[in-house]
Amino acid sequence: MRVMVREGLFTDPDPDTDPAPALLGSRCTNCGNVLFPRVDACTYCATEDPEPVDLSGPGTLWAWTAVTAPPPGYRGEVPFGVGVVELPEGVRVIGRLTESDPAALATGQPMELRIVTLHRDDDGNDVVTYAFGPPSASAPS
Ligand SMILES: [Zn+2]
Repeated sequence: MRVMVREGLFTDPDPDTDPAPALLGSRCTNCGNVLFPRVDACTYCATEDPEPVDLSGPGTLWAWTAVTAPPPGYRGEVPFGVGVVELPEGVRVIGRLTESDPAALATGQPMELRIVTLHRDDDGNDVVTYAFGPPSASAPS
């Protein structure tokens, strides 16, 4: 089975029917700002009940680094990449990158949203999360 690392962050569509995953965000009906993760009230103007929006990209890479030591509780592989990606809606999202070599990435390059496996849990489930990767990269492991 596939289980999400956290519910409510992203969609994990069946690749056979709908190949484009999306991040679950919010758009403020007052100021128009887009927020991720989804919120109950706008963090810019405090307007409540922003409308739900799906954010799918592709985005633009702003900054990145590699994590070489596993954070507490993390059970996946190291090193792995982490970066800031700006989506077309204007929101910047911090996320895992499919590329762990910082030298292989460049400012402003397009990044596609993907769903990747982090690790297998004690019940044998594949724990998945969202990640960004160059469009030309091969499928994430
Ligand atoms: Zn607002």
